[in-house]
Amino acid sequence: GPLVGNLIGEDHVNYVLMYNMLTGIRIAVSRCQAKIRRPLTPDDYTARHKYSFDIVGNELTPSAKYDFKFKDYAPWVFRELREDYFHLDPADYLLSLTAKYILSELGSPGKSGSFFYFSRDYRFIIKTIHRSEHKFLRKILPKYYEHIKTNPHTLLSRFYGLHRVKLPHGRKIHFVIMNNLFPPHRDVHETFDLKGSTVGRLYPEEKAKENPRATLKDLNWISRGKVLELGPEKRALLTEQLRRDSELLKSLHVMDYSLLVGIHNMRRGNRDNVRSNTLKVFSPNMPVMRRKPTQVKGASSPDAIALRRIMRESDPKRFGSETIKLPDEDTAGERQHFLFYQDEGGLRATDEVNDNMDTIYYLGIIDTLTPYTSLKKLEHFWKGLSADRHKISPVPPQEYGDRFFSFMKAIMRGGEGGARFKSE
Ligand code: ATP
Ligand code: CA
Ligand code: CA
Repeated sequence: GPLVGNLIGEDHVNYVLMYNMLTGIRIAVSRCQAKIRRPLTPDDYTARHKYSFDIVGNELTPSAKYDFKFKDYAPWVFRELREDYFHLDPADYLLSLTAKYILSELGSPGKSGSFFYFSRDYRFIIKTIHRSEHKFLRKILPKYYEHIKTNPHTLLSRFYGLHRVKLPHGRKIHFVIMNNLFPPHRDVHETFDLKGSTVGRLYPEEKAKENPRATLKDLNWISRGKVLELGPEKRALLTEQLRRDSELLKSLHVMDYSLLVGIHNMRRGNRDNVRSNTLKVFSPNMPVMRRKPTQVKGASSPDAIALRRIMRESDPKRFGSETIKLPDEDTAGERQHFLFYQDEGGLRATDEVNDNMDTIYYLGIIDTLTPYTSLKKLEHFWKGLSADRHKISPVPPQEYGDRFFSFMKAIMRGGEGGARFKSE
């Protein structure tokens, strides 16, 4: 399920990795950021900047606690993406990630072995990726950039940076930084990871009863009779964006991606488990408070917000939400710029006459870096022997994209509710 992580302290096995990742980001990103903006050149897409950290330091890199090497890939491209298209404030981005070395580790929720880390304010996710995914992202970066530029409201994962840490014994860890689709202080009551495939796409319902935060799959969606409740306008807009995004993914020959759907029921609110969305440094029973913004000049500047976060986290008792307002991160910040993340950080359900309903959806297309390689072709062959070749998850990219898009259309109100998929 979403957003349950363990804080990484100094005694954690991945503390050194976290330290190195954050130090690399802090130095590399601020170095690029300090330069005067210039138009991108074709070389910027393949650029990589190397940093070598050690305990002594030199004029280029400050001393670090450990020896390691760091690579920053296409820094100018990601900088432009962050600033111009993802609407991130540069200082805010760096402060969120690195002002304090606090990450929480979700571990490895998928089968791929990737690790997920949340920034301390839960806005950003660091995902370690396989070398092949890393190579692939570099290859498609010009097309990704172009898509983001022409589709400001895309549902695709927003990639903010691509980096690599190399440890002294030679191990290389590649990672991306991306948006957390789920809001920092709102409960997500149900989560679905939908691919439009039905074979093996069931999370056992008995297990789901014990673990209500589990990420459910396509067949759970169908058997629970879920529908994306969206009025005609939102439905049309979402359908069109999904169409464009899946066209891009088809043209990139990727597959295995999914639509992540988080459902927040406004009547249930945050009572159940507010803790799980919040770092453990918060007092566990702290209610999520919505107070009026403080009317101090500059109080809502990104620096001030970040500073308040740091204060709150360094001394939660004193600076807990009772005395310091939690910035309204759901609606403030970058999300206000995006059509599908505008309502409390997500998309509010509406009825047929476009009136608001009591549900907020958090939607996005995730896990978009798996090309249809020979490995997948092989998997397709083996799985295809025992099940219908068209319903299994690894089908060729064209078919995958079409099936994905039809499924997403079907699960919206007015669609076929996935019934067609059930009877297939
Ligand atoms: P696999 O390849 O086995 O599917 P993976 O390691 O590539 O797994 P993902 O599919 O990217 O992992 O994500 C696994 C889970 O992590 C998702 O089902 C979702 O619950 C959570 N997750 C991934 N990306 C995000 C995101 N951007 N925002 C919120 N949650 C996310
Ligand atoms: Ca996945
Ligand atoms: Ca994956």
